[in-house]
Amino acid sequence: MHENCPECKQPTEIEVGFYYGTGYVSYIVTVFLSGFTFIAWWIFIGLSVDDNRILYWLAINSALVIFLQPLLMRFSRTLWLSWFVKYDPDWKEKEVNKYERIVKEQMNNW
Ligand SMILES: [Zn+2]
Repeated sequence: MHENCPECKQPTEIEVGFYYGTGYVSYIVTVFLSGFTFIAWWIFIGLSVDDNRILYWLAINSALVIFLQPLLMRFSRTLWLSWFVKYDPDWKEKEVNKYERIVKEQMNNW
């Protein structure tokens, strides 16, 4: 991940341990993805206790989630950052440090 946004120079590592919470975001995203593939499997292939179809879903879903992990982690970090750094339409006119200061103020107000 970039240290600063290549476009607007917004720092992505706002403070030490800023991304600690992304583990939970990544977990929730992965659970939702697994739920989605489970429902899709249920609709298109079906579930039964008489054969191993659910085990095939489990294996394929596990492989998919592991394969997509780099994307899911980046998505989680982006989502996390977007909750703390609000979009500023005048970002071109403002200095980068102001963004950082605003974010720190917001986090201190929690
Ligand atoms: Zn940017």
